[in-house]
Amino acid sequence: MAQAPIFMIEDVDTATQHAATAIAEMAMREISPTPGNFCVWYNYLSGTVPELRRDLDALLLSGKTVSSSNIQELFDKYFREPGAEERLQQTGDELQNTLADVIRQVTQAGLDANEFGQTLSKASGSLGSGRIDPNSMKDLVGELINATKLIGQRNQALELQLKQSSSKITALQSRLDQARRDALTDALTGIGNRKSFDLAIQFRSQQVNEQKGDLCLLIIDIDHFKKFNDTYGHRVGDQVLKLVGARLKQMVGSNDSAARYGGEEFAMLMPQTALDRAVDRADKFRTGLAAHALKNRTTGQVYGAVTVSIGVAQFRRGEALEEFITRADQALYRAKKDGRNRVATEAL
Ligand code: GH3
Ligand code: MG
Ligand code: MG
Repeated sequence: MAQAPIFMIEDVDTATQHAATAIAEMAMREISPTPGNFCVWYNYLSGTVPELRRDLDALLLSGKTVSSSNIQELFDKYFREPGAEERLQQTGDELQNTLADVIRQVTQAGLDANEFGQTLSKASGSLGSGRIDPNSMKDLVGELINATKLIGQRNQALELQLKQSSSKITALQSRLDQARRDALTDALTGIGNRKSFDLAIQFRSQQVNEQKGDLCLLIIDIDHFKKFNDTYGHRVGDQVLKLVGARLKQMVGSNDSAARYGGEEFAMLMPQTALDRAVDRADKFRTGLAAHALKNRTTGQVYGAVTVSIGVAQFRRGEALEEFITRADQALYRAKKDGRNRVATEAL
């Protein structure tokens, strides 16, 4: 379902009138004018989305009480952007349907070919008897010409359908790839999200369980970030999260996975890296970040340096993932307790 536009161009008088009517009509029905409800009712009045108008008209005319949950359903149907997960599911379903179409088309073609084969063998049977008069011969040839024409047409149609399906599959495939990437990406920082981390840690730990090797985990937490937000505002805070994400991206090696683990926490998995090397890399990241005072490029305002504390742990073959993560968490806790802006290693 295409998403309806929430921002539209309307002159002030008309817009004000729609807005006032929307609020009054909702009040009459005891529907709260929350942003979602208002969006539905306003668009209903302005008629920007004909299908929405039709749906809500049907509801109003049904004589039943129109409730907030009816309106919420309409909001979901016409205005809510599907999340990455939902897009993934939708695209996957569409791909499945297209493949099912192809299978149907090919199966039908097989049936057609079979029928044609039967017509041919019937004709060859009649010819084989050797006693065929010219008139019947003419009919038979006519029948064969028709059957051949028909199968030719059907094959052409099939070719066209298959070509269309094939380009549709290609387009859906790339949409699926994009939706898959989105589902694993943190929208703010552009690095992996929690889900991508969960997948990576499962995969990497299994690799170590099966083939040996080292695997280290860094949990990175911004120091006094609440205070930073309180002082400079959430938007500046978001820019800091972006910066930390970008810096992590710069330091990842080809096997590492960096992710935003939670609000202001990041995680980094380093396969084939022993504990001392992981600690070195963590410390390099920490000092690199702490070395620069952040500054607003437009206003020149100086925010000072942002520091992080980092806990590092090494995976022990066969252990549960929670144990591994808990050790990194405990190390992080120690780094905080010991004064922040430092790296702490799991207790060995
Ligand atoms: P500590 O050094 O002990 O980690 O202190 P802290 O203030 O960083 O930790 P605390 O857990 O008390 O607060 C974390 C803060 O992170 C709270 C919240 O405002 C901020 N935060 C979490 N997610 C986001 C986000 O997406 N954007 C912004 N701007 N801030 C966020
Ligand atoms: Mg935290
Ligand atoms: Mg913090």
